Amino acid sequence: MCGIVGYIGPKNVVPILIGGLKRLEYRGYDSAGVAVLDRGELRTRRAAGKIAMLEAALGADPVVGHIGIGHTRWATHGPPTDRNAHPHLSTDGTIAVVHNGIIENYGTLKTQLAAKGHRFSSDTDTEVLACLIQECYEGSLEDAVVAALRLVEGTYGIAVVSSREPQKIVGARQGSPLLVGVSDGQYFLASDASAILAHTRDVVYLSEGEIAVLTSGGYRLMDIDAAPVRRSVETIAWDLEAIERGGYDHFMLKEIFEQPTTVANTLRGRLRLEEGTSKLGGLNLSHEQLMEIDQVIITACGTSWHSGLIGELMIEDMARIPVEVEYASEFRYRNPIVTDRTLCIVISQSGETADTLAAMREAKRRGARTLGLVNVVGSTIAREDDGGIYLHAGPEIGVASTKAFSSQVVALTLLALKLGRKRNLSVARGREIAQALDALPAQIQTILDAAPAIEAIAAAYQDATNFLYLGRGYNFPAALEGALKLKEISYIHAEGYPAAEMKHGPIALIDEKMPVVFLAPHDAVFDKIVSNIQEVRARGGRTIVITSRDEPVLAGLMDHEIRIPETVDLLSPVLASIPLQLLAYYIAVKRGANVDQPRNLAKSVTVE
Ligand code: GLU
Repeated sequence: MCGIVGYIGPKNVVPILIGGLKRLEYRGYDSAGVAVLDRGELRTRRAAGKIAMLEAALGADPVVGHIGIGHTRWATHGPPTDRNAHPHLSTDGTIAVVHNGIIENYGTLKTQLAAKGHRFSSDTDTEVLACLIQECYEGSLEDAVVAALRLVEGTYGIAVVSSREPQKIVGARQGSPLLVGVSDGQYFLASDASAILAHTRDVVYLSEGEIAVLTSGGYRLMDIDAAPVRRSVETIAWDLEAIERGGYDHFMLKEIFEQPTTVANTLRGRLRLEEGTSKLGGLNLSHEQLMEIDQVIITACGTSWHSGLIGELMIEDMARIPVEVEYASEFRYRNPIVTDRTLCIVISQSGETADTLAAMREAKRRGARTLGLVNVVGSTIAREDDGGIYLHAGPEIGVASTKAFSSQVVALTLLALKLGRKRNLSVARGREIAQALDALPAQIQTILDAAPAIEAIAAAYQDATNFLYLGRGYNFPAALEGALKLKEISYIHAEGYPAAEMKHGPIALIDEKMPVVFLAPHDAVFDKIVSNIQEVRARGGRTIVITSRDEPVLAGLMDHEIRIPETVDLLSPVLASIPLQLLAYYIAVKRGANVDQPRNLAKSVTVE
């Protein structure tokens, strides 16, 4: 998920690696490190925190060489500490690996390797890969990498060096990008071009499942069956800023478009399609403890609070446990009813949100078991909760949350599924929901493919001064989230409401200048929301309607239609929120707003 850089050539490798890692800083990271082949031996320097800490470690204990690999880590397995930072060495110290991504079956591999005498000095999945490559080594580093990767499930972009073959770097890609940089007599490996742009613009992109072998004399690519791959060199035309944003105009847009991948990452290794349930390794709750829960409290702020509202409906529906959702800032200062049978779920992208952290501590003091839904591994909430579900959505840089929201809802679905299947949810229904989760990434992609149509709608409403977002059932929280997105980045006043509640007040606002966004997929309350659309039309309001199939009853009632795929009711807010993110984004851009850093807002709200 974070950054890789590697170099082989005539120059001193250390400044090249450090320069490359600094170029990757924009992606967000929590620790960094390098491994250099120094006089025939692999020497690593690693440090938690900023690259300056790594530079200090290198200053205190320098290394030199012409071949090396570097990494900025964004932790998924184990907290961001010095010893978890990459590169990781194999047990005998002859192999060094940097890795982006997740090795899903690392637990099984670790047990097998431990039985063969391997010793581990970190909590990471990556170290297991280093030991596995050592175990597979029979005289060729690339063959060992290929043999090891055949045993691995999960995603990776990796760079590997070995003291046994001190003229070689091997790279491989599966689900995490990697490219080779080519320059006169020197070769680079990088997870994105910005890391090496200071040295070359000539690159060769690896495709999924491909391996690259770099030596001082050249490079070659092959597939996992060791068959050679031919690929022409491309010259990068983008400037540095465009590369950092993956070619998108803003981080927010990049993150919206990442959602097929980030949702897949949240689901990775956790779905049990046959049993219609989920496997959540980090809950730290025994079967008995799960069965004892008689009340759930979800506490969060902002976007996370909206996903909590969806979680409430899902947990009550699937597990029949009463759920209360409360703003963390309110919960912490009142006198809530909490017992030792209460499960308190706290949701925070950063894991550092001050109010959410305080609310979790208060729930703990009162005897509740706490469960953190957090994106940033090793953050304060993740350290202090009793158990948790990491989102694995990767660093979110845009201040307005997008991919963290979809991953939160997906993680809550996995939890509700597990709680439900332990109680009243039938295997048939469990399977239906698990399959719908499995289908989400591809469905999100189809919505993203239709982004130009949403941009055209945005153009028609960029001068609006107010917006109303209406939904019912599972889509009421998605309406709140849609309105929040618009407010945050475009500064247009927007409100989300339960659609039927409109007639108890907001209907007074409706006139021909008022755009109303309806979330009306074909779910259990579709017929009900049709009446609400009619009420708005009757008063001249402009309607933008999100639907999921041809609806003859809506003929003539929609100024604009946005189509999303059909799914089970409880997952429709994930799909419905994607066009709403795009709508907010395009409106904000057309108004000239600073989308990635909206005024007055901070990414991680660490003040009360
Ligand atoms: N899963 C690895 C770890 O936790 C790699 C994380 C990354 O992509 O930076 O160390």
